[in-house]
Amino acid sequence: MKLALSTWPEGTKTREFEESDESLGLDKDLYRFSEPIKVNLTVHKASNEVIIEGRVGTTAYADCVRCLEDVAMTVDETFRRVASIVPDAQVSEDSGDPDFTFLPESQPEWDLTEPLREIVMLALPDNPLCREDCQGLCPICGANRNQESCNCNGAAGRTPLAQLGELLDQHRKNGS
Ligand SMILES: [Zn+2]
Ligand SMILES: [Zn+2]
Repeated sequence: MKLALSTWPEGTKTREFEESDESLGLDKDLYRFSEPIKVNLTVHKASNEVIIEGRVGTTAYADCVRCLEDVAMTVDETFRRVASIVPDAQVSEDSGDPDFTFLPESQPEWDLTEPLREIVMLALPDNPLCREDCQGLCPICGANRNQESCNCNGAAGRTPLAQLGELLDQHRKNGS
């Protein structure tokens, strides 16, 4: 999303926007965004200085990394960014401060796509969990250990070799 600052009114204005996951380039491999991403911006503009105080909110869904159940994660982040509109020649590639941007006066357009994408992605965990103590799935029978207990625990310690040993023991005891 871009703010066209050449036509943006002076003073303080609040605007609301709705973005989609596509428009912000959000990672859809890990997260599903079934709701719009709501962006609320309070923009303070005084001649060539612009300050944005924003809030971004949405709900993202992912599979729990342990039990694969659906997890809903609320994003509600506030942020602040500052920009100066300067002569084109003064626009350096990098201001050195990620929260501070130089915009060329010939085309003072403020692209907030990347900052918003970063804010949303940083608010989401790398390893989504349905709950901190999720017990995950049984690696043997696939049962969801949060919902049911299975009888695989005992068998987990018995390797095929151990089971063969038991069979041999039985064979000897039977004396045949
Ligand atoms: Zn889980
Ligand atoms: Zn099991």
